[in-house]
Amino acid sequence: MKKKICIIGCGTFGSYLLKRLLEKYGSQVDIAVVEIGNRKIQNESEIGLDSISENSTVSTDGRYFGFGGTSARWGGQALFFDDRDNPEKDAAWDEIIKINARHKNTVLKKLLGENINIELGENKNIKTGIWLKYTKRNMFSRLKKRELKNVKLLPEQRVTEFVFQDKKILKIICKSKNGNIEELAADEFYLTAGALESCRLLLDFNKKTGVLNNTDIGKNFGDHISTELFVVKNARPVIDGIDFTPTLYKGSLVTKRMIVKTDDGVVGFLHMVFNKNIKSFKFLKELLFGKRETTISFGEFLSGFVFLFNFVFYLFFKKKLYVDQSQWSFQLDMEQPVPNNNKLSLADKKDKYGEAALHIGWDISKKDLNAISEMRDKVELLLKKNKLEYTPLYNPASTSNKGEDVYHPVGCLRMGHDAGAVVDYKGKVKGVDNLYHFSTGIFPSAKSINPSAAVFCFVEECLERSGSGGREAGEYPKGMPVANSSSNGRARRLTGE
Ligand SMILES: Cc1cc2nc3c(=O)[nH]c(=O)nc-3n(C[C@H](O)[C@H](O)[C@H](O)COP(=O)(O)OP(=O)(O)OC[C@H]3O[C@@H](n4cnc5c(N)ncnc54)[C@H](O)[C@@H]3O)c2cc1C
Repeated sequence: MKKKICIIGCGTFGSYLLKRLLEKYGSQVDIAVVEIGNRKIQNESEIGLDSISENSTVSTDGRYFGFGGTSARWGGQALFFDDRDNPEKDAAWDEIIKINARHKNTVLKKLLGENINIELGENKNIKTGIWLKYTKRNMFSRLKKRELKNVKLLPEQRVTEFVFQDKKILKIICKSKNGNIEELAADEFYLTAGALESCRLLLDFNKKTGVLNNTDIGKNFGDHISTELFVVKNARPVIDGIDFTPTLYKGSLVTKRMIVKTDDGVVGFLHMVFNKNIKSFKFLKELLFGKRETTISFGEFLSGFVFLFNFVFYLFFKKKLYVDQSQWSFQLDMEQPVPNNNKLSLADKKDKYGEAALHIGWDISKKDLNAISEMRDKVELLLKKNKLEYTPLYNPASTSNKGEDVYHPVGCLRMGHDAGAVVDYKGKVKGVDNLYHFSTGIFPSAKSINPSAAVFCFVEECLERSGSGGREAGEYPKGMPVANSSSNGRARRLTGE
C-alpha cells in the first residue's frame, strides 16, 4: 500500500512542496492536492473568504487564491536569513539561520536552475537578493503536465476541518461553495494554505481539540513596516562606495539592500526605490506584478519614450536597471519585534462558506515608531557622510507619516522547541504526529528579508529529515467519527478530477 500524502492549498509553498515530493518519490507515493481555487487567480472576496481588520490590508490585498496562489502576483524576490539577522544571539533564530544556510543552495538551484551559479555574498551589512525571472515566479506553472499526471488535483474544495484521533489527523473535511461536504483521508497532511488561512484553520482546530492550547498560536502577529524616509536628488545610488543599482543575471535581477538595526536589536532593511515618478516604469511594474488593470494611460506610457529607450538599452546592453538619477528614495522596512500585542483570532462573523472570518488585530506600536525614528536619524547621518542632497519625508514629530505592512505575515505560527512554539523546525505541528505546516507565519519576526525563499529551506529540511515518502504505510482506519464535525456523516469521499 502506497503512502497517502495530502497537500492543503497549492499556492507558493504547496506547489514547491508538490514539485519536490514528485522529484524525490515520483509514483512511490499517492499525492492528493486540495485547493480552494482553480486555475484562475482570485482575491479574498472573489474566493468567498472574509476577514476583519481595522489597520491591515494583508488579507484583502496580500494574498491570492487558486493554483499558484500568491506566487501568481508576488515580486519573486528571494533572500535568506543569516547571522546578521540575529544580533541578540537568540537560540531559535540560531536554528532558523542554520537551516537556511543548510538548504540555501538547493533552494536557489530549484528556483533559478541547475546551471545558475550566483553567490548571494555577505558583505558587512549589505545583503544580496535575487528577483526571479518573470516567467519563473508562479510556482504552480513550474509543474509539468507529465508530473501532474501522477497527482490527484482537487480544485474548488475548501478544507474546513480536521478529523483528529490519537495524535493523528485521520482525514480532512472539505466544503465547496455550493455547500457540498466531502472528506479525504491520508497518512500525512501538509498545511500550505497561506499564513492567514492556515492559522485560521489551526485556531478552529484548537477550539475543538485544545491541542495547541499552551502555544502562542495567533499571537505576536507581525510584518515589516515600510516607510519612505528620504528622497535623494541628482546622485548615483552609491553609498559608502557600494553601487545599489540592480544588475541583470540570466533574466533575473540581482538587488542589494542594507541591513539595519536599532541599538536594542530591532532589525530591518534599507533599500532604494528607483524611477518611482516615471509613469512608463510604473506601468511596466504593474504589468510584472500581474495587475489586471493599470492606472497609466497608453499615452502616458509612450510619453516616457526616452526613459523606455534607456530602460531597454541598459537592460540588454549594460545588464542593469536604468536609474533616473534626478530622484530616487530610501525606503525603510523594519520588523515588528516580539513580543507584541498583534493577534489573529476567530471572529463571530461568518464567510460565504459559513466558516468563522479571521480577525486581524494588527497595529503599529509606539515601539515600532521608536525603531523607525532611530533608524531615520542613523540614515540621515549616512546621507550626510556620503554628501548626498536629500529631502526628508518621514517626520518623527508628525502623526501623518505613511507606514504600511507589506504582506510578509509572520509570528502567528512560530517555530521553535519551547512550549509556546506551534511547529517544530521540520514544520511539524505540535501535538499532531502527521500534520506539517509551511508559511511565513513560522518565523517569529520578519528581520531583514522578504521571507518566502527562507520558507522553502524548511520544506527542504522537512523532506530531508522526516523520511517522508516511499516507505510503506498502514491503511488509515475506516469510518472514524468526525470530531465535533458539522458534517454529521453527510460527507462523501473525494475522488479527484
Ligand atoms: C504583491 C506581493 C509581492 C510580494 N513579493 C514578495 C517577494 O518579492 N519576495 C517574497 O519573499 N515574498 C513576497 N511576497 C509574499 C509572498 O508572496 C508570500 O509570502 C507567499 O506567496 C505565501 O505563500 P503561501 O504558500 O503561504 O500562500 P499562497 O501562495 O497564498 O498559497 C496558499 C494556497 O492555499 C489555497 N487555500 C487557502 N485556503 C485554503 C483552504 N482552506 N483549503 C484549500 N486551499 C486553500 C489558496 O488558494 C492558495 O493557492 C509578496 C506578496 C505580495 C502580495
